[in-house]
Amino acid sequence: MEKFEQIFGFMNGHAEEIVKEQDIDYLDALLQTLEETLDGKYEWQVEGTTKEDMRKATQIAILKGMRKSAQPNHQMTPDTLGLLVSHFVEQCFEEELKNGPISVLDPALGTGNLLYTVMNKMDGKIQATGVEVDELLIRLAAATGDLTEQPVTLFRQDSLEKLLADPVDAVICDLPVGYYPNEEVALDYELCASEGMSYAHHLFIEQSLNHTKDGGYAFFLIPTNLFESEQAKQLHKFIKGHAWIQAVIQLPENLFSSSTHEKSILILQKQSPALKAPREVLLAKVPNMSNRQALAMFFEKVRMWKEGK
Ligand code: SAM
Repeated sequence: MEKFEQIFGFMNGHAEEIVKEQDIDYLDALLQTLEETLDGKYEWQVEGTTKEDMRKATQIAILKGMRKSAQPNHQMTPDTLGLLVSHFVEQCFEEELKNGPISVLDPALGTGNLLYTVMNKMDGKIQATGVEVDELLIRLAAATGDLTEQPVTLFRQDSLEKLLADPVDAVICDLPVGYYPNEEVALDYELCASEGMSYAHHLFIEQSLNHTKDGGYAFFLIPTNLFESEQAKQLHKFIKGHAWIQAVIQLPENLFSSSTHEKSILILQKQSPALKAPREVLLAKVPNMSNRQALAMFFEKVRMWKEGK
């Protein structure tokens, strides 16, 4: 059995006991298990565990809990997407990373799986801030952050309201998709819909750029049809005025349950008077991840794009 499976075994065992004793949901019991572990109540004696073992174990346990009591906002970002995002972050910040860690914000933190996948992959190179509105998710993310010993500052709030976070080098965000219910807050955004409700995913793009340094990057997981809605024209105009599109990368269909759930990676660079627009926008499709040859060709294409940047 692998180490992360052993840790999962301990976590799961304690959580299931708590479910039986206290008659509460598995996710609440898991949170209690993780928080009590951090308080020193339980010890998992698995020698030589890594941050990735810890992340994977919590991820499997959280996924188990999410399957037991499905909720629309419980959508963890899979590892594969986190690993792809980390590859692009590393490419875009190759020079800066030579001088020390970069600052990263995830304004739709959820369970933190996307952020911690990227942080573990680039261990020691990221100082992060996470924001999430759902209390259970942010507490799970906080516990996972402590267990994986990653340097994160977390805020529980609506990310579209005033955010007390300094501008960062990079935003990474698996955008929440749908209408944003707080129309009063939406009025503060250029991307507020002129009629009807605004799209949360559009406002998140604007808020992310508000909190990105000039010349910094935003890495979004977007619905593949982002630029096809009736508000797309407004979004295009906004992006053109504030950022440069660096890349649009379509993800393999087999990663998603249906075509309506398909996602792409959108990389924006916030405009800066000191920089020029990119010479070439990377438009690419990630091949099926099991096709090693095609994948190697994809990464070669990314490398060539980066060299030409
Ligand atoms: N990357 C996350 C992970 O790995 O678990 C999943 C992100 S999920 C696609 C989007 C998240 O945005 C959900 O956790 C949801 O609760 C959160 N969210 C939605 N609207 C929000 C808002 N206005 N402010 C803060 N968080 C919000």
